[in-house]
Order: sequence, then C-alpha cells, then structure tokens
Amino acid sequence: MSQGLIHHVEINVSNLKSTIDFWSWFLEELGYSPYQEWEKGQSWKLGETYIVFVQTEERFLDIPYHRCRVGLNHLAFHASSRKQIDDITSKLKEKNINILYTDKHPFAGGKEHYAVYFEDPDRIKVELVAPET
Ligand SMILES: [Zn+2]
Repeated sequence: MSQGLIHHVEINVSNLKSTIDFWSWFLEELGYSPYQEWEKGQSWKLGETYIVFVQTEERFLDIPYHRCRVGLNHLAFHASSRKQIDDITSKLKEKNINILYTDKHPFAGGKEHYAVYFEDPDRIKVELVAPET
C-alpha cells in the first residue's frame, strides 16, 4: 500500500547534462535505476518513487534557482548506515562537489542526526541521512 507516499518529484534544471552527471552517480549509489529518458529530461526510480529532472526552457532561465526563495529548499534521502554517509562524503570530496556545513559535519543537523549535506549543480541542497542508531 503506497497511499500517501511520494509518487514522484519533478525538478526543472538549468543544464540537464550537468544535472545528469551529478544525479546519476548519487542516485545509483543509493540503488535507484534509470527510468525514463528523453531529449529534455531523465528520471531515476527506486521502489515506487521516481525523481525526474527536466531541462528548463531558455525563456525561463533568466531567474536562477535559489533555495532561500519560495519553493524547494532541499531533498533528503535515507542512507543505509553511517558508513554509507562516510563513503559518500569521501566520494563527494573526490568529485569536488560542494559539501555544506563542513565545520559541523556529520552532525550539522543535530547530535542525533548523522548526515552529509551538499549541493547539486543548480545549488539545490541535498541531504543524506543515516538511520537512527
Ligand atoms: Zn533536512
């Protein structure tokens, strides 16, 4: 019974290629599989939820995304373990992906909240959270 769970999330992006490079790696680390693919978009699915990224039309690119404005602030994902947070954090560093709140990492969300926060190419904030121990 999936009633009420998120069916899918669709996000418009400024540069689909950069988005695909970033998200394909991250989502496949989490067990998502490529789902739909077309000229202007791509999606990945895990269980009954999928995430879609769509190239924003040129005429709407004048105002960039900003997570402090009205709209999406961040997306948070479940990790399998604290070790997975550590492994992903190392890979993020290798990939030169901007990690947020490094001064408080991995407890930027509180002392019971083991997580890594980073930014996608449009600076959408992404959070990966370990299960409570
Ligand atoms: Zn959060």
